[in-house]
Formats: sequence, structure tokens, C-alpha cells
Amino acid sequence: MDFELTEEQRMLQDMAYRFARDNLAGVSQACDEQEKYTPEIRRKAAAQGLVGAWVPEEYGGAGAGCVGNSIITEELSRVDMGIALNVTAATFGCEAIFQYGSDQQKQTWLPPVCGGEKVCAGAFTEPNAGTDVAGYKTRAVKDGSDYVINGSKTFITNGTVCDFMVAQCITNPDQKKHNSFSLIIVPADTPGITRTKIHGKLGIRASDTAEIAFEDCRVPQANLVGQEGNGFRELMHFFDTTRVMVAAQALGLSEACLETSVRYVKERTAFGQPLGAYQLTQKKLTEMAIRIEALRGLVYKAAWLIDAGRPDYTLAAMAKFFGGETAVFCANYAVELHGGYGYIEEYPVQKWYRDAKILELYEGTKEAEIMTIGRYLQNR
Ligand SMILES: Cc1cc2nc3c(=O)[nH]c(=O)nc-3n(C[C@H](O)[C@H](O)[C@H](O)COP(=O)(O)OP(=O)(O)OC[C@H]3O[C@@H](n4cnc5c(N)ncnc54)[C@H](O)[C@@H]3O)c2cc1C
Repeated sequence: MDFELTEEQRMLQDMAYRFARDNLAGVSQACDEQEKYTPEIRRKAAAQGLVGAWVPEEYGGAGAGCVGNSIITEELSRVDMGIALNVTAATFGCEAIFQYGSDQQKQTWLPPVCGGEKVCAGAFTEPNAGTDVAGYKTRAVKDGSDYVINGSKTFITNGTVCDFMVAQCITNPDQKKHNSFSLIIVPADTPGITRTKIHGKLGIRASDTAEIAFEDCRVPQANLVGQEGNGFRELMHFFDTTRVMVAAQALGLSEACLETSVRYVKERTAFGQPLGAYQLTQKKLTEMAIRIEALRGLVYKAAWLIDAGRPDYTLAAMAKFFGGETAVFCANYAVELHGGYGYIEEYPVQKWYRDAKILELYEGTKEAEIMTIGRYLQNR
């Protein structure tokens, strides 16, 4: 067993950290205030191989695997999780193309995203069903050599800025629910698509989130990803990877909370001593550090298993669940340790406190992860 990063991975870690420090830190507060999406940062990151680093080189990526991508996600999220999402989630949806698409689909859709020219989105959630994936209603009906899509999606990351999306649609309504879905690549400029940005998010406000409506949208049947009727299962396996990446976001944010808190309690004094001298303070830092270390183990084991060709659905759910919990826990303690200063915008911990909550909601709520893990424990 070897817990060391390779020399290459250490270099990637250093590069990602420097990139975040030099490009994200200075604009973090303004992007949060103004809900500003940053395509120029994404393009710059792509030029350094930081977008879609998990994609093999033959499809335009850096071939760094999921461990490499976790390292990048962690380092960028240590500085600003919202801007980090613009970089790391530019490929969101591409995981399905990579896992289930034809070679031609991979050659067509993956390289421009890794190169920073295009952005993908994963369009699954609908206004009336999120956790209940089998409850989605968007329909894709065959007509000639096309699918005609009608329906709507909501909360779609990169919704207004994406060039194409991978959408979950019902293609086989006569089949049982779980056999009725398919994943379809939909170019964002397809006539009949309306995209509306959602404003006023609690956190990750630099990321783009949108509602997408489809009205008689025609896409070629050649855009079907994987097997018709297999979309539900494909989406579940898609989460094997993407939940680990969300856990890596949580790891980065939690580390930022701890590092900033350690610095603060060494400087700030109360009753004649630095806050760090008090055991109640040390307890908070210690609890944060233990959780972070445990989370790191989950994230990197789950990522390593994906790279080894043995993705573990349950471990991904555990990493995602514990990631959300850890980030919310650490952000809460970070605000508390900063006292009143933790509550105002002068210090970033208030932003991290707001950002952290999404980690318990998207890519499956914490209850959805519990359902996954609970089922596994009883069926294994
Ligand atoms: C900023 C942001 C970005 C997002 N990005 C994307 C994206 O890119 N693509 C995409 O497709 N979606 C995205 N989402 C959607 C997100 O994945 C969903 O919001 C999430 O899955 C929950 O779905 P819901 O909002 O419909 O809540 P619901 O499913 O209505 O759940 C509401 C509550 O009920 C609980 N619940 C539901 N079922 C059960 C049950 N059986 N037992 C116990 N509790 C239950 C849930 O855990 C939750 O607490 C994003 C959301 C946000 C806020």
C-alpha cells in the first residue's frame, strides 16, 4: 500500500494551487458579489491542462485520471469553490460520453471541452423531480432520423454558458420506468431551447446555474449516448465518478477553513492570550483536522479505484456524504473561530459557510447518499 502522490501528481498539485492563488483569489469576492461567471479563467486553466484532466490524452485531456482531477479540484476549491466549478465542471456530462459514448462521440465532443473552447452541462434534474430520478418527464420522441425533445430541466450548472449538454430523456415510455430513459447529447444552439439563468444563490455564486426548456427540439438520433432505454443505469454509474469530484470540492473547502482558522487563532488574542492557547479552540481545530484527514482517505481511495477500473458506487456515495458533512462542519467552526469577523465579508469564511451547503444538496442530497449506502449494506 502506498499513500504517496507520485512526482507527477505533486507537480500537478503545485501547479493547480499556484493557478488558484494567482487567478482565483483576487477576483473571488467580486465574482461572489456580482454572480460573475469567468470564462477567461476557464480558458487559461485549459491552456495549463487543468480542464478535463481526467480525460485520456487521445480525447484531448491531460490523462491525469480521477486522482489527478481530484487533486486539481481540491486545490482550486481551496481558494474559491464557485470559480473552481467553472473550471472543473466544464466537463460535467462528458463523463457519460466517455463511459458510454461511441469513439466518434468521444472524438467529437471531448477535445474542445478539454481545450477550453467549449463547455458541457449535465441536464438531469427537473422542476418536479430531483432525487426521484425515475420521475423525470422530459420526452424524446423519434421522428425520421431525429429525436424531438420536449420538457424542462432546472438547476443546471453551466446551463446558460454551455455549448452542449447531456440530457436525460424518456425515449421508451412503454417500458418500465427504469428502462424508459436515455441520455442524449443536445447542442445548446438547437432551435426550441430556452435558457434562463437562476439568480440569487446562497453560495457558489460565480457558477452559472439555469433553467432549460425544450420545445420541439430536434437532435439527430446519432446523439444517443450508450443504449436506448439504459439511461437510468448509465446516470447512476455516471455518479460513481462525479460524486467523488464533489467530495474533492468539499475537501478543498474544508482545508481552506482549517488553514485560515489556524492562522487567525494564532493572531487574535482574548483574555491576554492567543485564541489558539485555549483548549476549546484546539478542540475545534482538531475535530476539523480529523474529519479532513478521513475525507482525504475516502476521496483518494474512491478516485484511485476509478482509475484502477473498479469504480465503487457506494464508496463514491460515502465520500460525497462525508464530504458535504465535513465542509459544512468546518465552515461552521471557521465562522465561530473568527467570531464577529467571521460574519462579515472582510473575511472569506462567511463565503465558505454559504458555499459549503451545496455540497449536501447537488449530485444527490445527503439523504440520497444515505439511501444508496443503506441499500448496499442490506444487499451485499
Ligand atoms: C447550485 C446547484 C447546481 C446544480 N447543478 C445541477 C446540474 O448541473 N445538473 C443537474 O441535473 N442538477 C443539478 N442540481 C440539482 C440538484 O442535483 C438537485 O437539487 C438535488 O438532486 C435535489 O433535488 P430537488 O431539488 O428536486 O429536491 P427533492 O428531490 O425534491 O428533495 C427535497 C428534500 O427531500 C429529500 N428526499 C427526497 N426523497 C427522499 C426520500 N425518499 N427519503 C427521504 N428524503 C427524501 C431530499 O433529500 C431533500 O432533502 C443543482 C442544484 C443546485 C442548487
